[in-house]
Amino acid sequence: MTILPIRITGDPVLHSKAQEVAEISPEIKALISDMFETMEAAPGVGLAAPQIGVALRIFVYDYEYEEQRLRGVAINPQLEISEIEAGEPDMESESEGCLSIPTERFPLKRAAKGILTALDESGNTYTLEVSGWMARIFQHELDHLDGVLYADRLLEPYASELKQAIEDYGWGVPGISWLPGEDDLEP
Ligand code: ZN
Repeated sequence: MTILPIRITGDPVLHSKAQEVAEISPEIKALISDMFETMEAAPGVGLAAPQIGVALRIFVYDYEYEEQRLRGVAINPQLEISEIEAGEPDMESESEGCLSIPTERFPLKRAAKGILTALDESGNTYTLEVSGWMARIFQHELDHLDGVLYADRLLEPYASELKQAIEDYGWGVPGISWLPGEDDLEP
């Protein structure tokens, strides 16, 4: 297994729609192991394949949810979400980060509930009905597969603040990545 470099915002793979996985081949299984290892090293609660430069519809997650550890892979996932509440996002409880925009966090409204349907590593379909932060993680990761970063969904003044931060880091251009365990960057 290998820890892979995580692409930083500006890399085209992060801003394009990823392709469906046609077959869960040994290569795909190896990729999934590397994604788990990379997510653990980051550390993160979710990681999507485009973040490691692979334009496929796969994400992994690992989060303590309702007193149990939800750890898994979602291949060709679909997500049904509840309506997103109107109003201002809460700084304390709704601030989101992303391994592809490390060190920054900004608040964003997400749907409170989601139903994930996906294939697992063996190709079996499973469904997970979740709420709260777990639903947020799924929305964030599914966005990655559609080329959307949470930065793209921020309202003002947060959108401008994050845009400025990205410029200040010299990000927002193709070809920049960071390596968990080597580069000291954590969201
Ligand atoms: Zn992310």
